[in-house]
Amino acid sequence: MQKLAPYSAHSEQSKGRLYKESSPTYRSEFQRDRDRIIHSAAFRRLEYKTQVFVNHEGDLFRTRLTHSIEVAQIARSIAREMDFNEDLTEAISLAHDLGHTPFGHSGQDTLNACMKDFGGFEHNLQSLRMVDQLEQKYAEFPGINLTFETREGILKHCSKKNARDLGDVGQRFLEGGQPSLEAQLTNIADSIAYNNHDVDDGLRCELITVEQLRETRLFARQCETVSKLYPQLDGRRMINETVRRMINHLVVDLIETSRQALLDSGVRDIDEVRSYGRPLLMHSDEVAKDSLELKQFLRQNLYQHYRVLRMSKKAERVISKMFHAFMDDYRILPTQYHALSSEMAGDSESALARVVADYIAGMTDRFAMTEYRRLFEPGELT
Ligand code: MG
Repeated sequence: MQKLAPYSAHSEQSKGRLYKESSPTYRSEFQRDRDRIIHSAAFRRLEYKTQVFVNHEGDLFRTRLTHSIEVAQIARSIAREMDFNEDLTEAISLAHDLGHTPFGHSGQDTLNACMKDFGGFEHNLQSLRMVDQLEQKYAEFPGINLTFETREGILKHCSKKNARDLGDVGQRFLEGGQPSLEAQLTNIADSIAYNNHDVDDGLRCELITVEQLRETRLFARQCETVSKLYPQLDGRRMINETVRRMINHLVVDLIETSRQALLDSGVRDIDEVRSYGRPLLMHSDEVAKDSLELKQFLRQNLYQHYRVLRMSKKAERVISKMFHAFMDDYRILPTQYHALSSEMAGDSESALARVVADYIAGMTDRFAMTEYRRLFEPGELT
């Protein structure tokens, strides 16, 4: 059994599941959540979804699946060191991207724009929708019926408008308050993972260079250490030595700064963490500044690179054209959506739009491209 700090999430004190179930026999409640997530269809789809690069660009680039595993690795190491609940941390990490559309950020922005008059589209909320409603695995309830604590962690952000319909899990977006330390941790581990793997992937596909990256303090400092220790080293091994040190630097700073913050705060349990006025997990001011600088560098030089933008524009066209085609005539949706859609179309246009958004959001990159061809290319099989 893992030793748990008093302010961490304790499985036996969970606020429970939407549908009451008996406790698992040889697992904790959070282990069961983690296992349910791994066995979900949405989790398997992460393999063919991407964040910045598109799936077919090369075998070595991160997918949302490997990204989620990296987030879980970073977050679990920290959780274990700080006596937070490692099972809950892992469950949140593996589930945090389940609601993402195909084609990363541009896919999500496009779907949100398409859904403007129908309640919008938020990927965090969609991740929650995935585990609460869209997965169909159990006889007695929709979704995979996770604990409050895992659902709280999945819902990283939420608009006030949507939070009102969510019951207890939406409460903190209306009244203020923080999620568990495990949720706060996963959130930061997410950005440690993607900043570093985007550096790595960006260098791999030569959209950015080591010389450019030396303009950022975070990269420059570790790169300098590596060159001093190994003056002959270059290429991949030099990059890998640098990136692993960057991750380590961020993790160590996070542990040390947060440990002090927890001590200073005097919080004694998870309720005090939730009602504390600000997050208790954080980087030092200096490292926070350096991380922000790296983030801005990536935005300018990688996410806005013309080759990335071309793909984003393509994604916009694919998603919005599909969305409008399905809205024009729901009968071209696959049969299993018909009952739902015809019922809903009679009901209201926004209910139909939600069915279409769920269908599109669930697509992987490659499925979306195939479906697009089936819809719009006359020579393609339907
Ligand atoms: Mg993520």
